[in-house]
Amino acid sequence: MLIVQKYGGTSVANVERIKAVAERVVRSAREGNKVVVVVSAMSGETDKLINLAHHLSSNPNEREMDLLLSSGERITSALTAMAIGELGHKAMALTGRQMGIITDTFHTKAKIERITGERARKALDDGYIIVVAGFQGITEGGSDVTTLGRGGSDLSAVAIASALDADRCEIYTDVDGVYTTDPNIVPEARKLEKISYEEMLELASLGAKVLQTRSVEFAMKYGTPVVVRSSFNDNPGTLVTREDKDMEKVVVSGVAYDKNQVKLTVMGVPDKPGIAAKLFKGIAEANIVVDMIVQNVSSGGKATDISFTVPKTDSGKALKLTEGIAKELGAGGVNLGEGIAKISIVGVGMRTHSGVAAQMFEVLARHGINIMMISTSEIKVSCIIDLKYTELAVRVLHDVFNLAEVK
Ligand code: ADP
Ligand code: ASP
Ligand code: MG
Repeated sequence: MLIVQKYGGTSVANVERIKAVAERVVRSAREGNKVVVVVSAMSGETDKLINLAHHLSSNPNEREMDLLLSSGERITSALTAMAIGELGHKAMALTGRQMGIITDTFHTKAKIERITGERARKALDDGYIIVVAGFQGITEGGSDVTTLGRGGSDLSAVAIASALDADRCEIYTDVDGVYTTDPNIVPEARKLEKISYEEMLELASLGAKVLQTRSVEFAMKYGTPVVVRSSFNDNPGTLVTREDKDMEKVVVSGVAYDKNQVKLTVMGVPDKPGIAAKLFKGIAEANIVVDMIVQNVSSGGKATDISFTVPKTDSGKALKLTEGIAKELGAGGVNLGEGIAKISIVGVGMRTHSGVAAQMFEVLARHGINIMMISTSEIKVSCIIDLKYTELAVRVLHDVFNLAEVK
């Protein structure tokens, strides 16, 4: 079998952890498998590098940022390969460039276009364990280093698994698998034996950082089987796979939260055709992803308020841009709302059950939690609430939908 194993930041946090990873990897190889390892930077390293950059510039050049950030993963790939070598197995570390990971040119959130992988294929055939630096690629022609967005080593792993036609992709992290909600917030959260790509995609995009959103999208598109497991024990993990009939019986399968958004409100926007198009086109052109949008009913049919949410990391850029557009549109002004969180419930069973949203609103109301924005899809309901109620909301929703372990 060909197996891709990805180890996240806490799994390679220090020399001892890297040794433990090397042992696990070598064990898989000695069982007769070809193994490709993908590593993250040591935990905290990427944040440290971002901080350094911000000490020197309030708006660091994104090309330089990518070169800087990619170094964290290069360090762990080299160290992990050395540790494997110490255990008597051939190992070769490869950067994104050496792995042939070709991306588009959107620095700090590049998309993988293709993976050549020739060198890795040859080395695997020659009996090497390959250790790839996650989170990075290069632009076509190889002139610049790019990174794949926060948590991007998950995407590196899934994309490499698909390019090399691996039998499975194992994501090793600091929890035993995918739970009904973040087990670090709700200790009663239950580990799921399996979860559909659709539900995992929703949970990830709604803030459950156990898998990066784009990695799930990629796995779903190519049908790559993904298993989420702990690198700290041998417990069985969670299989992310195609939906089956049993999954529909469960109405709500998970609760997610996202504290990394801000709300922008454009006040007094003229209420006429084409305004929203102008506003959101300008924001999209800056490659900022807008999540929720709410337009209020205009008073007297003349002016209205439009609110929307964007990732916190884009808040400065989005605010500046929106202020410019607001001026052009003759709007009253722009207000930046920080201190918000998005709480969501997810489940494929919502397709066939009604009243789930109402139940969510009711339980939030009962706990005095005000809802600022709402958005729904076939299999999820999300609410924007005050940041300080995040943990409470997650706990009460987990409770009301009976997601805890049946003891
Ligand atoms: P890594 O560094 O290995 O990539 P991450 O920190 O990115 O790990 O993701 C693992 C974390 O995801 C867990 O420690 C947990 O706090 C968080 N998490 C959030 N929601 C969930 C969930 N539904 N199931 C499991 N973990 C979750
Ligand atoms: N080191 C990167 C990050 O912290 C990528 C990853 O860990 O997946 O976002
Ligand atoms: Mg991660």
